[in-house]
Amino acid sequence: MQGFDTRAIHAGQEPDPLTGAVVPPIYQVSTYAQDGVGGLRGGYEYSRSANPTRTALQECLAALEAPGLGEARGMAFASGLAAEDTLLRTVCRPGDHAVIPDDAYGGTYRLFARVAAPWGLDHTPAPVTDPEGVAAAIIPGRTKVVWIETPTNPLLNIADIRAIADVAHAAGALLVVDNTFASPYLQQPLLLGADVVVHSTTKYLGGHSDVVGGALVASDAGLAEQLAYHQNAMGSVPGPFDCFLVLRGIKTLGVRMDRHSANARIVVDFLAQHPQVTEVRWPGLPSHPGHEVAARQMSDFGGMVSFRVRGGEQAAVDVCGRTSVFTLGESLGGVESLIEHPARMTHASAAGSPLEVPGDLVRLSVGIETVDDLVSDLDRALAGHS
Ligand SMILES: *Cc1c(COP(=O)(O)O)cnc(C)c1O
Repeated sequence: MQGFDTRAIHAGQEPDPLTGAVVPPIYQVSTYAQDGVGGLRGGYEYSRSANPTRTALQECLAALEAPGLGEARGMAFASGLAAEDTLLRTVCRPGDHAVIPDDAYGGTYRLFARVAAPWGLDHTPAPVTDPEGVAAAIIPGRTKVVWIETPTNPLLNIADIRAIADVAHAAGALLVVDNTFASPYLQQPLLLGADVVVHSTTKYLGGHSDVVGGALVASDAGLAEQLAYHQNAMGSVPGPFDCFLVLRGIKTLGVRMDRHSANARIVVDFLAQHPQVTEVRWPGLPSHPGHEVAARQMSDFGGMVSFRVRGGEQAAVDVCGRTSVFTLGESLGGVESLIEHPARMTHASAAGSPLEVPGDLVRLSVGIETVDDLVSDLDRALAGHS
């Protein structure tokens, strides 16, 4: 088996058979000429069903998330939420039940609470840090999906993927893991027993804050076939240029993740000793309650960091408004550092729910800039200077 970075650069990306182009061309086309009725030249008939640029991305995604799992298949979507919606409506029916994380991306919670629930899929939030708590939330016979993120957004909690896979499978449910925060470079949930991996490719996979996209990778051929059927039938596919951008980003995923993780470690060390900071959450800290599990199932700890600011919500909001290298904005996973206030921004839709986040929490997406500039930017912002 080739190494991760070799697969990232080459899987699904043989030189173009027609021209030798070393990068898959952007096949900006909707339909394909047929040689007589039904005579497809390359297996392509209409770009919602399949497009060569998308095929290249999908093969690469499967090679990164499921090395050695011959049946696995990747599918690209117009956004992470489009991937999630297609997944839910493929594996669940009205009347079914899902267990969801009690700490999750706000949009995922909104999809369950405001879209899937009225459609007939109800859910129970459970603590992902506790496999027994997840087991207790399962309704035997009705729970079709156990859904986790790890590390979670925004609290950076860690779920034991293998333990929760066992719990889900014992109840006949599928385990879905949102692997957006770790990326396949740091963690490969399908190899730990998960059935489907979800991505917002908008984040680390794309890596440059210039594209919105999503993906599913399923380990089982039968499930992958159903998902691919729904991908075409529901139609939320990405365009060829977006696929090209994600593929281009993936080529440098390994070097970017190494730098994100290394920069985050230095930022965390700075925050941990700062008098204005009451708590730092990053799974690489030995004091983090999920550190041991994270060290076992991840190869490094990533670039997402959150921390709580002394003085409460207004103090946290003020810090977010004072940085200059860290850009105030939603999203994450790009080369540039971002700062945000989850309670008022990414997680505003979870207010009043079990997923509500603390008001004094600040979330960082630590980028790959020169780390001294990141530390001095935070130092100034915490000291009250802008
Ligand atoms: C951003 C994000 C999503 C949603 O993806 P979009 O591409 O914005 O639709 C899902 N899960 C996590 C963890 C995310 O960060």
